[in-house]
Amino acid sequence: MSLPITETRSTCPYCGVGCGVVIESQGNQITGVRGDPDHPANFGRLCTKGSTLALTAAAPITRQTRLLQPLQRAHKAAAAEAVSWDDALAFAAQGFARIIHEHGPDAVGFYVSGQLLTEDYYVFNKLAKGLIGTNNIDTNSRLCMSSAVAGYKQTLGADAPPACYEDIDHAQCIFIVGSNTAYAHPILFRRIEDARSANPALKIIFCDPRRTDTAEIADLYLPIQPGTDVSLFNGMLHIMLWEGWTNNAFIAAHTHGFDALKATVRDYTPDLVAETCGVSKADLFTAAKLFATSPATLSLYCQGLNQSSSGTAKNAALINLHLATGHIGRPGAAPFSLTGQPNAMGGREVGGLANLISAHRDMANPVHRAEVAAHWGIASVPEKPGLTAVEMFQAAADGRIKALWIACTNPAQSMPDQSTVRRALARAELVIVQEAFSTPSSCDYADLLLPATTWGEKTGTVTNSERRISRVRPAVAASGQARHDWSIAVDFAQRLERLLQPQASHLFPYSLTDASAGVEAIWNEHRESTRGRDLDITGMSYAMLEAAPQQWPLKTGDAAGKARLYGDGRFPTPDGRARFVNTVYKPVAEPRESRYPFSLTTGRLRDQWHGMSRTGTLGRLFGHVAEPSIQMHPQDMARRLMKDGDLVHVTSKRGSIVVPVQASAEVALSQAFMAMHWGEEYLSGVSSIGEPLAGVNALTTSACCPDSKQPELKHAAVKILKAELPWTLLGMAWLPQDAALAARASLKPLMKAFAFTSCTLFSGNTPLSPSGGSSGHERCGVLFRAAGHEAPPDSVLATIERLLDLESADTLHYADRKKGQRRAMHLHRIGERAELTGFVLSGDTSAQAWIKTLLQDELPAQAYGRLLLLPGSKAPVAVQSRGRLVCTCFNVTDVAIREHLAQAGEATAGERYLASPDDKLASLQGALQCGTNCGSCIPELKKTIRFMAPADAQATRV
Ligand code: SF4
Repeated sequence: MSLPITETRSTCPYCGVGCGVVIESQGNQITGVRGDPDHPANFGRLCTKGSTLALTAAAPITRQTRLLQPLQRAHKAAAAEAVSWDDALAFAAQGFARIIHEHGPDAVGFYVSGQLLTEDYYVFNKLAKGLIGTNNIDTNSRLCMSSAVAGYKQTLGADAPPACYEDIDHAQCIFIVGSNTAYAHPILFRRIEDARSANPALKIIFCDPRRTDTAEIADLYLPIQPGTDVSLFNGMLHIMLWEGWTNNAFIAAHTHGFDALKATVRDYTPDLVAETCGVSKADLFTAAKLFATSPATLSLYCQGLNQSSSGTAKNAALINLHLATGHIGRPGAAPFSLTGQPNAMGGREVGGLANLISAHRDMANPVHRAEVAAHWGIASVPEKPGLTAVEMFQAAADGRIKALWIACTNPAQSMPDQSTVRRALARAELVIVQEAFSTPSSCDYADLLLPATTWGEKTGTVTNSERRISRVRPAVAASGQARHDWSIAVDFAQRLERLLQPQASHLFPYSLTDASAGVEAIWNEHRESTRGRDLDITGMSYAMLEAAPQQWPLKTGDAAGKARLYGDGRFPTPDGRARFVNTVYKPVAEPRESRYPFSLTTGRLRDQWHGMSRTGTLGRLFGHVAEPSIQMHPQDMARRLMKDGDLVHVTSKRGSIVVPVQASAEVALSQAFMAMHWGEEYLSGVSSIGEPLAGVNALTTSACCPDSKQPELKHAAVKILKAELPWTLLGMAWLPQDAALAARASLKPLMKAFAFTSCTLFSGNTPLSPSGGSSGHERCGVLFRAAGHEAPPDSVLATIERLLDLESADTLHYADRKKGQRRAMHLHRIGERAELTGFVLSGDTSAQAWIKTLLQDELPAQAYGRLLLLPGSKAPVAVQSRGRLVCTCFNVTDVAIREHLAQAGEATAGERYLASPDDKLASLQGALQCGTNCGSCIPELKKTIRFMAPADAQATRV
């Protein structure tokens, strides 16, 4: 008898939109997920990532990728061995106590995550600042949101996004800048699409160096040069002043500092700004006019502004525009910073950064420190500023930080300047990694690994971009011996407290045996810390959150939270006025120059999340982008005689990697793009002097914004040269899900045997259950690619074949040692039909296109016989690829989409001619179903429609 299905309401663990989900489970297994129709962030919708959450929690994946018990290494190079929780935490507490005793509290550091829940964050913050007495606690939100925090505080007086999602419905002009919203915040983008349909008068401006899918919705696209945003915003203000479009009454009544800014922007003439930013004067004028003269302008912005050496100035210069035009505090009018991570906001609320303390208080303010000390019942909170993310790893690399505690983040993938980060992790005496997954590269450096619960198991709260706090609820019990993040931190803190201050009162009195009581007690303590602050939530309770998510502030006595802020024109500054910041444009920290002539930018893929610990477990989510690559403008490639798939050396002042190149019309001349996700886990190799190559962040710079200390991940000067690596290898095999993940883990050490390697998953073409369904067993394969100067030893190739299950007696083999060539093929025969289930081509991969298609498209292979084994062989009949997946929900490829559009375009007399883009989209959706489930592919469908339309139909709409 099957177990009953239980439904649990929770939130998606990926981006800052904070969508509500309904998790289906049977017994202790998550079996499905769907959008929560009652959650105000998404009203039932989920994107590709959210809708596949249940698949990532399937048992075969959990077995292969989760950290299921505490592990300890005797020394850095030793294998990790299982230990009990008691021994693990005793070891951790004794290690920290010894280092604190010998070197002082600032010899330890905590690096935590915007994916922790608010309660987890609160405990870590109290542990560092309240118990140990160091402010060395920072978070990966430093890489994500700290410029937004500093920008809001400098201008509006508090770190509070003043808008809500509903403002998208009220805006008459939406200014999307430095944000690929279509990929990074897909469900919010669906809302923008809805607003556009409902209101034909809505104008949308999109500003970004890359013409991403987000541009598809824009009336005006500004292809800004990297890092020149401050110049653009100042130039727009210059035009607004010249044309009389500023709101002088608002400026006079609610702000100060405008005169100084006015004097500054006088120099930002349209000629100068157009030249600096690479946009036309006409477009600059149009942008200024639309922004200023619209009845309500809403700016949506993200990492393009934040991840910059002038990130705070960029944020402030944009907010200046809102203050100058009065576009704030009204429905549809606000500067709205979109948070990248699911709980970057919650982390900020509890003061989880090195320069903050609880409830948006400042570490530098003695009154704030005294308030928090009183709240925690301690004598004082340390005054000395803590080390921010980049500083903390630099200090560990220099030997000043001796112990590092890393929770729920993977600095060995996500931090810039990986060589410094890896030096830090190798040098620190004690590295503790608290993680749900065993796969992140940071785990390789840990002396102690502590297994944590994750989505579907966790309990607590998160806050999304619009200040809305939602409950995260467990649908199933913890996997293996995993414990909640807050519970691990509390248990450790209680032990450390006994070692450091045996006489002291107990700072961490939360129940470890009753998780519900423990987590609520922590939240209640956090709630009390907000009393009288801008984010006051003293009128909220866990019971209230059980009923529905709530926005802050919600003070004692209030019936509901505030949807939008500053409607009364009063700001949380000493005099109640907002402040213009006198922003001055400064170029990127590392300008392009003759030796490094390209500007490399990084960003998200549509279907992957951060270091891919979770999304990288599903072949399906590699359908849209299958392998790592660097994108360049087609002309830049042609000039360098490069073609798609060629390997190139990409080199910055900090490091070098080898990666395939791909032409992209999205990327401007002299620029290049690489997805932020590709770390050493998926893209690796070894340099000619034997140094390991560690993913895209081997190249990025740790140059930071002086105010926010956020590094400039959006620009690094690089050179790109063709790599001459004549020996190549491609291996692919269908494997059961758990075997595929096990094979990938076993292949990882081999990635250092070659000058270039990448290792990803792929999925098949069988129809999928778009909701994530209940199977969790869709077909999965491993794709391993390598290149080098010469063939590796046969033993290495034999190991690759074995790991791809190509050593059975019926596997066909070919080898020519002299030529360094070798092939292995496995055909599965059923009657007359044979299917290729796995192959390795080594030495010569020129036949990869048709052999790869035979396998991945599951085509009959019986006709190809010995050709499969012959190097340089061509298929006797054309093997047509189904193409690249565009719609992941219904397995619709770019080839199928183009074919349908071509047929629809040809239909004339007697049939319905599809004239408008909307008609064509509807036709595609009707015929192929693409874009009818999660909607993530709709921008790409629209782009394809535009590219296939006659040129005169592609003109800019403004
Ligand atoms: Fe999750 Fe997608 Fe919603 Fe973001 S937009 S919270 S990734 S479902």
